[in-house]
Amino acid sequence: MFWAEKVTDDVVRKYSDKIEKGESLVVRDEKTASGHVHVGSLRSAALHAIVADVLRMRGIKTDFFFEINDFDPMDGIPKYLDEKEYEKYMGMPLNMIPSPVEGFDNFAEYYGQEYVEVLEKIGFGAEVYRASELYKSGKMNGSIRKVLDNRDVIRRIYMEVSKSEKAEDWYPINVVCEKCGKLSSTKVTDWDGETVAYTCSSNVQEWAEGCGHEGRISPFDGNGKLPWKLDWAAKFVAMDVDFEGGGKDHYSKGGARQVAEAITREVLEHEPPCGVFNEFFLVGGKKMSSSKGNAATAKAMAELLPVHVLRLLLLKTPINRQISFDPEGDAIPVLFDTFDRLAEKYWSGVEDDDTQVFLYSHLPSERENIPKRFLPRFSQIAFFVQMPHMDIEEEVREMKGEDLTSEDKEEIALRAKYARMWLDNYADEKFIFELQKELPKETADLPEEQKKALSLLADAVEGMDVFDGQTLHEKIHEVKEATGLSPKEFFSAIYVVFLGKESGPKVGWFLSTLEKEFVTERLRLLT
Ligand SMILES: [Zn+2]
Repeated sequence: MFWAEKVTDDVVRKYSDKIEKGESLVVRDEKTASGHVHVGSLRSAALHAIVADVLRMRGIKTDFFFEINDFDPMDGIPKYLDEKEYEKYMGMPLNMIPSPVEGFDNFAEYYGQEYVEVLEKIGFGAEVYRASELYKSGKMNGSIRKVLDNRDVIRRIYMEVSKSEKAEDWYPINVVCEKCGKLSSTKVTDWDGETVAYTCSSNVQEWAEGCGHEGRISPFDGNGKLPWKLDWAAKFVAMDVDFEGGGKDHYSKGGARQVAEAITREVLEHEPPCGVFNEFFLVGGKKMSSSKGNAATAKAMAELLPVHVLRLLLLKTPINRQISFDPEGDAIPVLFDTFDRLAEKYWSGVEDDDTQVFLYSHLPSERENIPKRFLPRFSQIAFFVQMPHMDIEEEVREMKGEDLTSEDKEEIALRAKYARMWLDNYADEKFIFELQKELPKETADLPEEQKKALSLLADAVEGMDVFDGQTLHEKIHEVKEATGLSPKEFFSAIYVVFLGKESGPKVGWFLSTLEKEFVTERLRLLT
């Protein structure tokens, strides 16, 4: 069973009453907009979007919200920003910090909108709201009051659930200093049922400088913010959430999720939502993680793969299993091959987990009609785009064995575009091929028996009537057998004379993409 169906089954079971009454279920996800969003967040996005999607596919009314958390304080400066320029904002809510780029209201809007655009692009879009708006709207007020009234209960829960001890004078709220605008540097010292007393100093957080102000203020309507585990619990209530998961790191025993759930039940007197954790999304490779200090961002990932293929990557692995992806290696060609295999199954009418995943790799509006088309292997397209003499459509037409449809041509253009991007930015050297115009200098090092073998191959090729990949493949193996060379010795010699390196695409197929005369001439140049 497709994992998302299983997760959704649990949601449906828990909320059957609500569903029967025709009430909407609420799915919620959030991301703190503290910098370019890391690629790992796409797993959380996929989890929530796909559960909302499956619910809707089952005809269940669903509201799917995405929160740009713009009310968290800046607690670190991304390495691609000027530390000197931003250190004065440490501890300030992200929505009060200027955007690093002109044209955005504030810091959080810039990074938040960048991520929302990615989500929209890959079909994981939701109704977007901001944490600051939620606090200002007063919807958090009821929970803030309960939290302040029950701080002893909360201290006990922290101790019981997560073994974390909070000081006796701890008030579980931070207010925004009226003088300097910081959140992390304030310490609340009293709660009289309507207002809190606070001081703003550098002693509260090592990394946030306070201004020394002392004051009294209402903690409601956006003046104050709950610490994050309580903030999470209060949002379950304020948004009346029915499904919300979270990162694996928050789901450990005694972790944030358990604390938030206990507080939701005991202090806020509300049933916490269904939820499961999402595992990590590890993106390897030096190029991806070091480019402009961006680390591997969600945006870079969304540029690297077409929508359907990226969705497939995010959906095919069960949400509780890790995804490791290295764009420098063969992960991308392999992923396209998987897409092609699933597509073939889908178009031949198979109904199983694979075809379910394939279906959900498409947007709801596309699922009625996924046009059948010829899918040329990505690795072959990636080779074609490196061969300037080649007419890619003509090559694919030959592979298909009949004329190309407009859908075929669109697919070729799409794959060629992503292949070029991959080769230009990420692909390891072993995937880069250049057909050598002259006999490469590396051929000078070839041993005599390899040179002789190539000349035998030239004779064999010359006598061929049919010059296609399969026939060449057989012919090459015949010659190899006759010479007694190992496959590696023989094939690497072939690659060296054409590409100047010891490896290349499947050899028979590779030679078939060249002119027969060119092949025989080149093979004979060594003897
Ligand atoms: Zn202050």
